[in-house]
Amino acid sequence: TKPLDLREAVAQYAASGVAGISVWREAMEGYTTAEVRTLIDDHGLHVVSLVRGGFFVDPTPEGRQAAIDENKRIIDQAAAIGAPLVVLVCGAHPEVPLPVARAQILEGIMAVIPHAVAADVKLAIEPLHPMYADMRSAVNTLEQANDLALATNHSHVGVAFDVYHCWWDPQLEQEIKRCGAHDKLLAYHVCDWKVPPSDLLLDRGLMGEGCIPLRQIRTWVEDAGFEGYIEVEIFSNNYWAQDQSSYIQAIRQAYLDHV
Ligand code: ZN
Repeated sequence: TKPLDLREAVAQYAASGVAGISVWREAMEGYTTAEVRTLIDDHGLHVVSLVRGGFFVDPTPEGRQAAIDENKRIIDQAAAIGAPLVVLVCGAHPEVPLPVARAQILEGIMAVIPHAVAADVKLAIEPLHPMYADMRSAVNTLEQANDLALATNHSHVGVAFDVYHCWWDPQLEQEIKRCGAHDKLLAYHVCDWKVPPSDLLLDRGLMGEGCIPLRQIRTWVEDAGFEGYIEVEIFSNNYWAQDQSSYIQAIRQAYLDHV
């Protein structure tokens, strides 16, 4: 619900029976972290995650160091609002070959792990659909995210799995299983893939509006041992232009009917 101010969003979620919220950093502008925490606590919501860190890939060492420093600040912010998790959109750069980019991502994550441990905030690598491999993420399948999380060999690093990015993957069932078997499944995001989307980023569908086998995937996720929040994440110019309280009710209904 991007158009809603955080205060309004929290109030409307609580009134609709929504139990948790992931907070975008942009939504915190104008609030101190203490105010954000109090606001969310006062409405009885749980903070699921802070969105988002990452973007570790850069052609220059200075750029990569700046990203590491920024991620440490993001981890501090997460701890301050009571978020147990930072979602990582790991980064990609058109001048950096994808295998090199993935090595830079691993290096970046390793560099911030001590900070994450000190703050007791976990890091969740979110694989992004390959259409975003140019600028947003060189991690494009759940297999790659699992490989990366396991390569860190650290309990504070896991995976955020979003159906929008991975629903098409023939390895999906086995990689969800693998993720769960290593205790790496930290977050689960749902929406639907419209047929076809009119915008690659900002035309996600309400659950039931597209072609993602949501019930099937939920079974795999729960069989893998996931017990966290199922988060609805719909970036949509169409829905953001509508009345947000009706939109929240539509999300609630779509969740009950199709997730
Ligand atoms: Zn997501």
